[in-house]
Amino acid sequence: MKLIGILGSTGSIGNQALDIVRLNKNYQIEYLSCFSQVDEIICQTKEFHPKKICIIDRSKESILVDTFKNENIEILSGFEGLIEISKTNVDFMLNAIVGADGMKPSIIALENNIDLALANKESMVMAGWIIKEIQKKNESKIIPVDSEHSAIFQCLTGESKEDIKRIILTGSGGPFRERQIDTFHDIKLSEALNHPNWDMGSKITIDSATMMNKGLEYIEAYWLFGLPQNKIDIIIHPQSIIHSMVEFIDGSIKAQLSKPDMKGPIQYALSYPERISSEIESFNFIENNVLSFESPDLDKFPCIRLAKDALASGGSHQVVLNVANDLTVAKFLNQEISFNDIPVIIEDCLSCHSFIESPTLDEIDEISDWTKEYLNKKVSNV
Ligand code: NDP
Ligand code: MG
Repeated sequence: MKLIGILGSTGSIGNQALDIVRLNKNYQIEYLSCFSQVDEIICQTKEFHPKKICIIDRSKESILVDTFKNENIEILSGFEGLIEISKTNVDFMLNAIVGADGMKPSIIALENNIDLALANKESMVMAGWIIKEIQKKNESKIIPVDSEHSAIFQCLTGESKEDIKRIILTGSGGPFRERQIDTFHDIKLSEALNHPNWDMGSKITIDSATMMNKGLEYIEAYWLFGLPQNKIDIIIHPQSIIHSMVEFIDGSIKAQLSKPDMKGPIQYALSYPERISSEIESFNFIENNVLSFESPDLDKFPCIRLAKDALASGGSHQVVLNVANDLTVAKFLNQEISFNDIPVIIEDCLSCHSFIESPTLDEIDEISDWTKEYLNKKVSNV
């Protein structure tokens, strides 16, 4: 029996993880968390009987307290509650929170020697250097949930790091791969939310449309696999069948393939180091006999360039990139800014901030606050 804590259980990844748990008797849910979807976490709690639950939105805590007053469930709230619940001793934490707020729970789990199934890629972008330091000091493991990183992780099983020539992150190219760049100013929210291959939460769906998602994944890969930037490539593969690849020094390339279904990498992270059977349909090579590849278009998708440059510049650039992206995406979802504003505003934040090479956690907080303040002022002056 594996004891699991799930943060962000009410989201796309969280719900799919619970679908897997529902079908497997080997997992027991120790805790769950959400931001504000109180009805959903109540349903999940009634079904999975966690010992602890946390809701960030404190105004809804009393609903949970009332609902579970006759049950032995610890109810926590706010960011402090999230930090507290993250210290719980479990076999692993699945961090499926979206955005920068997922970073601290990842760090707390690893500091407490708890293995981490990591969907929250923003953790690695905001604090990869801190996370690597923690991992040097203890035995905690990170099992990536992001499909590309799960693919690379699977391809690397049984291999030596010295034998890697390069890793190749694949990406679908998103909904605007074929759209003319001179019509980007006209992109509507509904179009950006319409991803061709994946059904995901709204923030990552917009990240996929701007292709910042690939940029964040590039940084995530750098920190997870410890390879220099010149050994990490990005290739567009519109069918999303090859989830990523590793090329070795002898010219051999390993790829991990399946139909695009996040339950694959989520289940792999849950069952690691074993594999368990799943309901995912077998891939039919004959019916899907076209696998195509192209280079990413950095003029159309400047967010990829911003992310690569932020990694090359190091430290605080990655924090500003991530926080500014979280905020601009929220503003685009709120229809306060246009699609084309997203990279422009992020680039402005990056060029105006004061650089710190390897920020500490306190400095990351300060850089985040600066970015929020600067960006909000900028947008209100537009
Ligand atoms: P969703 O928006 O669907 O879900 C996010 C979850 O986090 C919800 O449970 C939400 O609660 C909670 N949450 C939101 N904001 C906060 C906050 N500030 N503090 C604490 N909890 C919060 O996101 P996804 O499941 O799509 O994505 C989760 C992570 O996984 C992201 O980092 C994403 O990049 C990554 N990922 C997702 C993939 C996918 O297919 N969805 C694929 C690969 C990676 P509530 O429901 O109450 O709002
Ligand atoms: Mg991905």
